[in-house]
Amino acid sequence: MVKIDRMEIDDAGSDPKRLAKAILDQLPDDTVMVPVRDIAKAIDIYEIREEQLSGLEGALIVPKEKSEGAILINKDRHESRKRYTIAHELGHYVHPFHRANSPDGFRCKKNDLAITKAKPNDPHSRMEQQANEFAAELLMPARVVASFVRDTGEADLTHILELARRHDVSREAAARRYIPRIGDPAAIVFSKGGVIRYARSNEFFPKLSVCRGGQVPHQSVSALSSAEIGEITGCVEVAAHTWLQKTAGVTLFEQTLAQQNGFRMTLLTAEIEEVEDGWGAPSF
Ligand SMILES: [Zn+2]
Repeated sequence: MVKIDRMEIDDAGSDPKRLAKAILDQLPDDTVMVPVRDIAKAIDIYEIREEQLSGLEGALIVPKEKSEGAILINKDRHESRKRYTIAHELGHYVHPFHRANSPDGFRCKKNDLAITKAKPNDPHSRMEQQANEFAAELLMPARVVASFVRDTGEADLTHILELARRHDVSREAAARRYIPRIGDPAAIVFSKGGVIRYARSNEFFPKLSVCRGGQVPHQSVSALSSAEIGEITGCVEVAAHTWLQKTAGVTLFEQTLAQQNGFRMTLLTAEIEEVEDGWGAPSF
């Protein structure tokens, strides 16, 4: 049985990552798949009810002082998605400054669960972003993901799928956690039906020429691949201008995975030639 001392959480302050760490520190050292339902129970969430919710992904019903509470989640979802929603609601529950946005408690929409950057001067989006930051850290602790990335080496879609499986999170959530921790230039592009949904690049990756709502480039592996759903393609070199704004000195590689209902995940990695300035060999 999971035992969590709520005092330890109360002492953690208001930083979402520290709040998650205050819980993780109380779990056995070898925990990989975080028992999010047991954690909820251990901190006085007396019920996690699964219902058909219209327009909502999850909700937290709590009295003002948040001494106990109940979580509602959408029953028509995969377990990995349910786990994320529970973790998100726990974020609202443990955060000392979060107050309900309605008399019925916290009501969180699908879009709220995707907020990674809060809009300026918008307390609602700030709360949602913090709950998401908490959920990501709780389900995939940065320390554990970093050591996974170190052990697995070069970026590869199979590693993202493995990360998702280990932590029982969605592949998309795993990819968002994976990309920033890769030490070489890497980006992930999420698309549906040939249209870009969004992309995430790490700090080393050159600027993409595609943007949200645009078409997946016609000459890309992602557009041309005939691989079946669930089959990861090899990592192949593609012309850098297919995906990038500036291509000088860049060798680009693409790997893709077709998913259900037209969804697709594409991993881009790059090798960037160091440009020497000044003392390089003269080019006649
Ligand atoms: Zn929320």
